[in-house]
Amino acid sequence: MERTFIEDISEKFNNQKVLVKGWVSEIRALGKVQFIVIRDKTDNVQCVAHKDTLKEDLFNKIPKISIESVIEIEGQVKTSKQAKKGFEIAIENLKVLAEAQTPLPIDTSEKSKTLIDKRLDYRFLDIRRPQVNAIFRIRSKVFNFVSNFFDSKGFISINTPKITAGGVESGAEQFSIDYFGKEAFLTQSPQVYKQMFVVAGLERVYEIGEVFRAEKSHTTRHLTEFTGIDLEMGFIKDENDVMDVLDELMKYVLEEVKEKCKKELELLNIKIEVPKKIPRITLEEARKLVEKKGKKIMENDDLDAEGEKLIGEIIKEKHDSDFVFITLYPWEKKPFYQMKDSKNKKVTKSFDLVYKGVEISSGSQREHNYNVLKEQSKEKGIDIDKMSFYADIFKFGAPPHGGAGIGFDRLIQRMLNLENVREAILLPRDPERLTP
Ligand code: ATP
Ligand code: MG
Repeated sequence: MERTFIEDISEKFNNQKVLVKGWVSEIRALGKVQFIVIRDKTDNVQCVAHKDTLKEDLFNKIPKISIESVIEIEGQVKTSKQAKKGFEIAIENLKVLAEAQTPLPIDTSEKSKTLIDKRLDYRFLDIRRPQVNAIFRIRSKVFNFVSNFFDSKGFISINTPKITAGGVESGAEQFSIDYFGKEAFLTQSPQVYKQMFVVAGLERVYEIGEVFRAEKSHTTRHLTEFTGIDLEMGFIKDENDVMDVLDELMKYVLEEVKEKCKKELELLNIKIEVPKKIPRITLEEARKLVEKKGKKIMENDDLDAEGEKLIGEIIKEKHDSDFVFITLYPWEKKPFYQMKDSKNKKVTKSFDLVYKGVEISSGSQREHNYNVLKEQSKEKGIDIDKMSFYADIFKFGAPPHGGAGIGFDRLIQRMLNLENVREAILLPRDPERLTP
């Protein structure tokens, strides 16, 4: 007999025989009647055993089966008013395929109170909880939605090295590794490469890949290894073209999630709000707005976490938007490769995208003129000619271009209102955690 996934069984199957396989969620033994709730990757269903119809040895075995054991059940679907789904499965045969040891190291029930640290130690058990694996079903779908979007906009998917001789960002956040006796680094951004492949004539590229940051931060939004969604596009008018793409991307992804992840969203009790046009305000304007609420931000300073939260609330109130672009960041705070604004050389053509009060993306127009770039790097105390692999990109025909990096884990965290970014990644890495 072939296996049926629980999700595919309905009341229409009444009196039909099915074979289901999965893990035991619950056992209730009530004398003459016993219940097993079995769960597979799609759903769970109640199965019932009656003392007078099931073979005695099978019936007696049921109370001894431990929670989370792997079993298979053959039985008939029976509509039932009492059952949550409107039907249950009357057990005719039952096999234990793999027993789970007791006690379980973490509570896998719906209302589990196990703390996140312990849950992460046993992530493979934690993920068995439907509300937890719903996060990763959505994440998997979002991965596809993002790819579909870029594909439809003529972007080419690229995969670039994660082991590098060094990036163009400040070196402080790079993990250094021993590469056959030489020092190498784990990439902290595919910046160099995405610019390189725009210039290579691919014009529009994106990469969904790992990014490493040696940041010793203990916050609910920083990881030392995360997934970046990076994009770069050539022949732009200015940074607004990049923001337009992000604006459309967010709308597209959220609409798709709303439409295609209904079951998961219901489980997580999340209502998705699709943005209209995402408002764009300058950092200067943002600073004034948060100052009105009593928070002082120094001239030339970025918004800190509290400032981002505040601006999120203000924009929600003013524009009914969960998203806001904050533009024109001070040159002093930004890397040398960003293009300076033509009207005000103290700021760059840069932006951050804030979602529900947390930065999820940063981007800019890049300086593509070699001579200007050389000047700008000098101002920051860097000599780009010492990074010839980077400098060369701008010597043989580099079109105007710009791009952005989005934190995939943060995007999922904000979308699903998860308290901690660690909830949005299967196996988080942070300064304290290298396992499992
Ligand atoms: P933050 O100021 O929040 O530390 P950042 O400005 O240093 O972030 P960027 O270099 O702009 O980060 O990286 C692009 C995006 O990658 C960020 O907007 C964020 O969504 C994500 N990101 C950056 N650092 C981390 C991290 N340590 N863990 C998870 N996501 C991150
Ligand atoms: Mg940033």
